[in-house]
Amino acid sequence: MGHILIVEDEQDIRDLISFQLKAEGHKVTAVDSADKAVSVLERGEKFDIMLVDWMLPGALSGLEFTRRLRGHKYYKEVPVIMVTALTQPENIVAGLDAGADDYITKPFDLDVLQARVRVQMRAGQLALEAISVPSGGVFECEELRIDTSKVRVTVAGTDVALTSTEFKILQTIAEKPGHVFTRTQLISQIQGENIHVTGRTIDTHIAGLRKKLTTAGRLVETIRGIGYRFKDGTP
Ligand code: CA
Repeated sequence: MGHILIVEDEQDIRDLISFQLKAEGHKVTAVDSADKAVSVLERGEKFDIMLVDWMLPGALSGLEFTRRLRGHKYYKEVPVIMVTALTQPENIVAGLDAGADDYITKPFDLDVLQARVRVQMRAGQLALEAISVPSGGVFECEELRIDTSKVRVTVAGTDVALTSTEFKILQTIAEKPGHVFTRTQLISQIQGENIHVTGRTIDTHIAGLRKKLTTAGRLVETIRGIGYRFKDGTP
């Protein structure tokens, strides 16, 4: 069970979500504006997940709050689910681009919300495990071969020229076949100095990676609304 931050200005919704998540055994901190959420974070409390409304009173919108979170030293990897009445595709894209890991539109079903919370919790735990996996050596899956020490990838014996970002993404997911990585987790893996990556650009890198891998592109699987994983090789 985790500690969940809810940022929602509509009291009915805030109370309803708080009640449900507490009933599932989570610890909940709920505030009615992003400005107050910032104050909570300044106290240094640890959160496992945040549910953030987009439209909030005060200077800071939920979208801007999420964007700032992604640049935060301590909170940049905490999964964010954006919960909002804005339902247009461009809203969803903007929410994910700002760094949200998932996006739920109002009105929502409480069971679905709880399931999405479970997914993000699980993804967070898997990422922690993944980080501890040592890299190096040769990885093979069907016609794909990755030599991490030589930074070399071949498909059915033919060399594939990947960008360093594409290689890092492939290496990250291939080290944990079957494990789902959220965009945020992939971003934190490949983010380096002078590299700015958003959820949307991860999608672009994945598309480029798949194309270059030709037949082996199918090994990179999309998990709708969550992220990506390398095909689980176990029969
Ligand atoms: Ca609102």
